Amino acid sequence: MTAILPGATIGILGGGQLGRMTAMAARSLGYRIQVMDPDPSCPARFVVDACFEGAWDDARVAADLARGSDVVTLEIEQVSLACLDAAAKYAPVRPSAGPMRIIQDRILQKKWLAEHGAPLGPWRAAESETELAEALSELGGKCFVKSARGGYDGRSQVKIGFGESHISESRCGAPDAWRLLGAKPCVAEKALDLDKEISVMVARAPGGEAKSFPSALNHHENQILEWSVIPSSVPADLESRAQEIAAQIASGLGIEGLLAVEMFVAKNGELLVNELAPRPHNSYHASELACVTSQFEQAVRAVCDLPLGDVSVVQPAAIANLLGDLWLGEDGEAREPRFDRALAIPGVSLHLYEKHKPRKGRKMGHLSAVGKTPDEAVQRVMTAKELL
Ligand code: ADP
Ligand code: MG
Repeated sequence: MTAILPGATIGILGGGQLGRMTAMAARSLGYRIQVMDPDPSCPARFVVDACFEGAWDDARVAADLARGSDVVTLEIEQVSLACLDAAAKYAPVRPSAGPMRIIQDRILQKKWLAEHGAPLGPWRAAESETELAEALSELGGKCFVKSARGGYDGRSQVKIGFGESHISESRCGAPDAWRLLGAKPCVAEKALDLDKEISVMVARAPGGEAKSFPSALNHHENQILEWSVIPSSVPADLESRAQEIAAQIASGLGIEGLLAVEMFVAKNGELLVNELAPRPHNSYHASELACVTSQFEQAVRAVCDLPLGDVSVVQPAAIANLLGDLWLGEDGEAREPRFDRALAIPGVSLHLYEKHKPRKGRKMGHLSAVGKTPDEAVQRVMTAKELL
C-alpha cells in the first residue's frame, strides 16, 4: 500500500459533527477535505474546501465527490451501497462496501457477530408482525425493538413492557411496535440489566495494522449518550476481554478506518456486544484531550495508510453532550445557554457544531473536561453542564 500524503484530498460521505471534527483533524495534518451531505449548511460546511449536496443514496454525487478525492471515507453508516460502489470507481473507499453491507443492517450485523463468536444478549430477527409477536413472546419480559436500518440516538427503537413511567410506546405490543417502526424488518432484544456500558475504538490500516484505544465508559439517558469518559477504569480482566473482542471483530470484518464496538457489562458480569459503528464515535470525543492521538486524527491516519498514532491516555477526560433541549426554555421559547458560566470551571472546554436549528434530542455540541481522575473529569463536565 502507498500512503496518501498530506496535500492530498480526502472525501467524506457525511458532513455532520463527526465529519466536521474529522475534517478539522485532517486540516491540521495538511489535507484538503470535501464532504457530501443532504444539507448544504451541514456542520462540516464551515471547515472544508467543498461541500457536495446529495442524499445518502445519490450515487451520482458520491461519484463526483470521489472523482476529486484521493481517498473516500464516511461518517455515517446509512450511506447506500450504491454510493460506495460508485465512489470506489474513482478512489479507494475506506471502510469498503463489504463490511458496510453487514454493519448497516442490524439483522446482518447480529448474525455476523453470532457466527463469529462475539458474545450477544438474547435477540431475534423479525421480518413481519407475526415474527415480531413470536420473537417478543419467546424473549419474554422487557424488550427493545430496533429497526434493522437507519436508527441512531435511540430513534427507530421501541421499548416494550417498561411500564407507565417510560415513554408512551412503553405499554404497546407487537402490532404497535411493528407499526411505530414503519412495518419494516427489525430486531427484538431482551432488555438487559446493565451494570455499565463501555466502548472500544479500533483503528485499522489498509495493510492490516491495528491499534485499539483504551475503553471508554458511557452513560446513556433515554437511549442517548449523556456523558462519556476515557479511561473507563474497568478491571483489567474486563478491559482485556473487551479489547480482544473488539480487535477480533475489526479484523474479521476487514475494516479499513475506524470501528467502534459498543458493549454492555451486565449486572451478572457478562460482557456483551451491543452494536458496531464503522466511523468516529460520540464516546471517543474525549480522546481529543485524553489520548496522545485523537480518534479523528487516527481516522485520517488509518484511511490515508499512514502509521497509526499512539493511543495512550495522557490524562483522564470526559465529555457531556449538549442537546437541542438546552436552547429551548421551559415554555419552548429560544434561549442561549450560559457558556460563560460553564467555561469558568477549570479544565472545561466547549465544542459547538454550528447546527442552526436546535431540536429536542439533537446533538448540538459537547463540553469536555480533564481531571486528575476519570471521576473528577465526569464531575467537572457535569457541573459545567448544569451551569448552562
Ligand atoms: P443507537 O443506534 O441509537 O445507539 P443502541 O442499540 O446502541 O442504539 O441503543 C441505545 C441505548 O439504549 C444503549 O446504549 C443502551 O443504553 C440502551 N439499550 C439498547 N439495547 C438495550 C438492551 N438490549 N438492554 C438494555 N439497554 C439497551
Ligand atoms: Mg448505540
